[in-house]
Amino acid sequence: MTSQTAFDILVVGSGVAGLATALAAAPRRVAVLTRGAPGEDGASRWAQGGIAAALGPGDSPAQHAADTLAAGQRLNDADAVSRLTAAAPDTVRWLDALGARFDRATDGAYALGREAAHAHARIVHAQGDASGAELMRALRAAVRAAPHVTVLERRTAFELARAGDGRVVGAWAHGERGPELWRAGAVVLASGGIGALYRYTTNPAYADGAGLALALAAGAELADLEFVQFHPTALAPRDGERGQLPLLTEALRGAGAVLLDARGRRFMPALHADAELAPRDVVARAVWAECERGGRAYLDATRAVGDAFPARFPTVFAACAARGLDPRREPIPVVPAAHYYMGGVRVDAQARTSLPGLYAVGEAACSGVHGANRLASNSLLEGLAFGRTLGAALAQAAPAAPAPAVAGVRVWHPLDAAAETALADLMWRHAALVRDARGLQAARAGVAALRAGLPPGAHGADRLALAQRMLDAMLARDASVGAHYRSDGLRAACA
Ligand SMILES: Cc1cc2nc3c(=O)[nH]c(=O)nc-3n(C[C@H](O)[C@H](O)[C@H](O)COP(=O)(O)OP(=O)(O)OC[C@H]3O[C@@H](n4cnc5c(N)ncnc54)[C@H](O)[C@@H]3O)c2cc1C
Repeated sequence: MTSQTAFDILVVGSGVAGLATALAAAPRRVAVLTRGAPGEDGASRWAQGGIAAALGPGDSPAQHAADTLAAGQRLNDADAVSRLTAAAPDTVRWLDALGARFDRATDGAYALGREAAHAHARIVHAQGDASGAELMRALRAAVRAAPHVTVLERRTAFELARAGDGRVVGAWAHGERGPELWRAGAVVLASGGIGALYRYTTNPAYADGAGLALALAAGAELADLEFVQFHPTALAPRDGERGQLPLLTEALRGAGAVLLDARGRRFMPALHADAELAPRDVVARAVWAECERGGRAYLDATRAVGDAFPARFPTVFAACAARGLDPRREPIPVVPAAHYYMGGVRVDAQARTSLPGLYAVGEAACSGVHGANRLASNSLLEGLAFGRTLGAALAQAAPAAPAPAVAGVRVWHPLDAAAETALADLMWRHAALVRDARGLQAARAGVAALRAGLPPGAHGADRLALAQRMLDAMLARDASVGAHYRSDGLRAACA
């Protein structure tokens, strides 16, 4: 194991949250450690809809906050929500100044999209449905030009390094040259979500909970672990396909696309007054029910979007074309898929975790802004706004001298492909959109069996421990709320 240069700040992850933190921390010396390359390896580049910000006439941060609290079933932290929505307009202007090219109306103002559960049109987007790719292009360029940031590519952190007094002082990471220790005065976890723990997800493979697992193994407090958001409309898998599926943005339903069953009949109007624009969890469970019945569900945009499809939704159009589908002429087969994690490492208003020296931002953090369900397009905003705030605060604080780390105790030993598949199948079958105690207990036993064969301290075992903690939280909350639905629960939140 080699010991490397020390930095003021080590950021684990290079999505919107990690790069915003790193940029705002100038002039401190920042290392961004990431599994692939910045802008390419996380969920951020896949984002389609855009960033929510109260910028339109008649809108306000207070109204944005009210919508966020309603979506989160008021299990949100109201103070965190106010800070988030108040920071949104300035976050968009900051991105603009960095060079992000947002779509504009003819008068030059931002073209604002509207998504379900937002009382106003407030989604700032880029190149139609390629918002994440454009944001990451701008952030990556800014990081490349920033002399205070060093990027450490193709490395996976697998243990937090601790000083003798327990303070987090760096991370051990596995790279091409084996395990390395990277030391820093402060460590920021910006490692994204957990979608890849499920058989079907809109997330890329690196959103597999590895960051949360190392925080859990170090004893950090995690929160809201039962709240996983599923998107109703991912492109249905081909035979045997699993993992990341292309997303069909909610904006399609906003534009009038409708959901059909296998016989071509709309099923949402009978289930909710807002039909296809009902809350995301309601629509996702309805699509799940169609699939569970052995049928299929389709998203039909032939009338609502038709020939405008390639221009308005180029990302979705390309994904359909790659499957030989023409969404201008035919309904698109869909399934629900794991999409966003409301749970994460518990943080306070300064993004501090329960471990001294460790901070968390973005999807890896549980700041309390989302409650039981995230309002669409609030997550890019959270990573950017809270990342900038944290970076600026760390830049202001006197840098802690990186203390010597005590020897690590974990080993680089990921799960093999068979165990990954078994884990993702257990989570999909028992811990997805509709849960009950019996299924959750079966999943827990299955995960325990997978854990049994691994050596002590294995990184793979830490990810299984995370899955067990998620299942425990799902078992403990025996009533349905927001994205957590118990079919055997005391009361059901939605039909
Ligand atoms: C298809 C899709 C569409 C979406 N659309 C929208 C949208 O329109 N609006 C919106 O607000 N949100 C959207 N989201 C959600 C949003 O994209 C994410 O919540 C957000 O990008 C998360 O940013 P992040 O920086 O926290 O994590 P990510 O962008 O996922 O980055 C995580 C980083 O951590 C790294 N990492 C992970 N583990 C380790 C480790 N152990 N060691 C080192 N590095 C590690 C990864 O390599 C990656 O660089 C969408 C998500 C998807 C998948």
